[in-house]
Amino acid sequence: MKARIAVLPGDGIGPEVIAEGVRCLRALAERHGHELILTELPFGGAAIDLAGTPLPEDTLAACLQADAVLLGAIGGPKWSAPEATVRPEQGLLALRRALGVYANLRPVKVHPALLGASTLKPQVLEGVDLLFVRELTGGIYFGEKRREPDSATDVCTYTVAEIERIVRAAARLAQKRRRKLVSIDKSNVLETSRLWRAVATRIMRTEFPQIALEHMLVDSAAMHLIRRPSDFDVLVTENMFGDILTDEASMLAGSLGLLPSASLGEGTRGLYEPIHGSAPDIAGRGIANPCGTLLSVALLLRHSLGLEREAAALERAVSAAIEQGARTPDIAAKGARAISTREVGEAVLAKL
Ligand code: NAD
Repeated sequence: MKARIAVLPGDGIGPEVIAEGVRCLRALAERHGHELILTELPFGGAAIDLAGTPLPEDTLAACLQADAVLLGAIGGPKWSAPEATVRPEQGLLALRRALGVYANLRPVKVHPALLGASTLKPQVLEGVDLLFVRELTGGIYFGEKRREPDSATDVCTYTVAEIERIVRAAARLAQKRRRKLVSIDKSNVLETSRLWRAVATRIMRTEFPQIALEHMLVDSAAMHLIRRPSDFDVLVTENMFGDILTDEASMLAGSLGLLPSASLGEGTRGLYEPIHGSAPDIAGRGIANPCGTLLSVALLLRHSLGLEREAAALERAVSAAIEQGARTPDIAAKGARAISTREVGEAVLAKL
């Protein structure tokens, strides 16, 4: 197959982890006879330095023409001064909006060899394999904001159509997994949540009767996520609840550096990125964990290019490399030697 991929390394450790992602992508394409056209483009703080804006026109145009976008991470102290009016994060919000990616997928799997890497007890983590589906372009983050001298207001709005499409996206994913969907809301307090619950119930009853639906209040979900995380299969929720709960869930795996994400809209084009930020504290030292990026590449192969075999091969290679001790300092076992970003990339390539 032939596909176009826009590659946005970004800032901090972004370029370090993306370099490994690109190497694996090229290796897989060569091995399986695919023609992938990869174009690297400035984005985030790097683009502010270069062009005065975090999302230059050429970068946006290339992303809109691509079959998929692979992103490292953006941001850092250099662009975070309180008085700064141009910020890397503006580029990310604008890019998500332009691509129309409303569903953010974050799979969280606990690798058996890394049960000790989390702050939670190993017996709680055994068998954890869940998928968060977060609504990404609606809700309180995008509502009207007002500031008065002694008050402030953020408006939270959801339309029926916005809820329907995200619930359907989650249900389709649940269908290919263990057929359990938990819909998270705060319907005892919020009107938007009461609408959310009513729409989710209707969509699931009429279109996906074979999937078990459970409703859960967000506070209760926060508790159950660390009490019995292996019970969950697919979870769907609105933008802000998802923002908070997915960070909580990421800690089940032991390191931010391990987890991938995919942001999808209608059609197959998507935006793929590890869930971590630019990690300025370790940038430039060659010790960032590239696994979150490599697993994001696997999601790209699966969801945007339809290459399930290649995606699964990459996931198996990452897992096998970790199993055999290819680990950066964030997940190295006590007393074991940690290796570099590049060496982990090489170990995964060798497995491929
Ligand atoms: P962060 O995710 O960059 O780092 C948090 C901690 O996790 C740090 O100690 C870091 O060293 C560690 N870490 C992160 N990724 C790692 C990896 N791959 N391997 C090993 N360790 C890793 O979050 P932060 O420090 O809160 O934010 C730093 C900057 O990143 C900020 O400017 C923030 O705005 C930005 N940010 C960007 C994104 C994004 O690009 N989507 C997401 C979150 C934060």
